[in-house]
Amino acid sequence: MKGKYFIADQDDIDRKLASDVYFSRTAPFITKNDGKKVIAEITASSNEIINFTGIEEMIRLLEGKNISLRAIPEGTVMSTRDSAGIPVPFIIVEGIYESIMEYETSMLGFICQSSGISTQSMKFFMEIYPKEFVSFGIRRMHPAISPMIDRAAFIGGASGVSGILGGELTGTVPVGTMPHSIAIIMGEKKAWEYVYKNSPPGRRTLLIDTFGDEKVKALEIAEKFPETDYIRLDTHSSRRGNFASIVREVRWELDLRGYRNIKIMVSGGLKLEQIEELKKAGAELFGVGTSIASAKPIDFAMDIVQVEDVPISKKGKYSGSKDVLKCTECGNVRVVPWGIALECHGPMESIMAEMIHDGKRTSKPETAADIRKRSVDLALKNVLQNRM
Ligand SMILES: [Zn+2]
Repeated sequence: MKGKYFIADQDDIDRKLASDVYFSRTAPFITKNDGKKVIAEITASSNEIINFTGIEEMIRLLEGKNISLRAIPEGTVMSTRDSAGIPVPFIIVEGIYESIMEYETSMLGFICQSSGISTQSMKFFMEIYPKEFVSFGIRRMHPAISPMIDRAAFIGGASGVSGILGGELTGTVPVGTMPHSIAIIMGEKKAWEYVYKNSPPGRRTLLIDTFGDEKVKALEIAEKFPETDYIRLDTHSSRRGNFASIVREVRWELDLRGYRNIKIMVSGGLKLEQIEELKKAGAELFGVGTSIASAKPIDFAMDIVQVEDVPISKKGKYSGSKDVLKCTECGNVRVVPWGIALECHGPMESIMAEMIHDGKRTSKPETAADIRKRSVDLALKNVLQNRM
């Protein structure tokens, strides 16, 4: 490990150093003896609806290796089990085992954490929709992975991200309001004035809870800066009592005086179960941090399911090469042995796409915006079909 910080750099990952040691210790032995072609698949042990992300980094890692790879595209929202309870292979790798075995740790790391974050982001998206939320969570995680966190949160449904690199990676203008610190250093009024003057229309967001009461400060802002787009309530937990009640009261007082244009943004340790009440109370924009950034990883694992032409797997896993089919009419998903066709209400089509063929990348990288579109369309459709 080199460099200043405690991170594996990109070169370390490519050189198999960010891997568990048992792979590199056993790799020479297997190489001497075998060189056999295997099929390995990646399934999740849990049974839940996920928003699958992270495959783009895996493709970049495995491109040029002696393998082919099929996978379900990023931003796909689906259960980790098919309708018969069979674990869905999200990725199938085919090739000489030694060429990938030492990458397993990194391969899984890319998708487990990213999919965990995009899945959690999707849960917030569903709860907050049709209102919007932005991802504010990178400060709670190691800075080296902040772009990945923002990307996954964005794909899951965040409309914006707070990180500069996250903005670059998602092709969005990073979102930020104002830190409490400038109100403390400049004084609240000067800080408001500065932010109000220097923010483009639509983004004039003033933080109102640094010193005073939320209602009093909201009205002060409304009078001084009537074109404010959002007032942001980030009320400290020790003062919160009932956060939704504060929001409701502020909304009432603003409306009463004709400031319907000033919307309320809330942030500060927001949990999924608080959203509905805050929404009802009048919150229109949510800044969500730790709840999304610290999401539980999806427990993907990679297993060999075939050696040469022989289906074989460890106990607890389903052997043989497979395909994942989806009914074009009802959305029913079935895992089938490779090459088997099924009918449901309509034809069932494979949802896996070839992404690497004999080491050559065969899929074009998609923009985060395109992946996000797939993700939110599927999430909303799942709700309509009552599958969440
Ligand atoms: Zn069907």
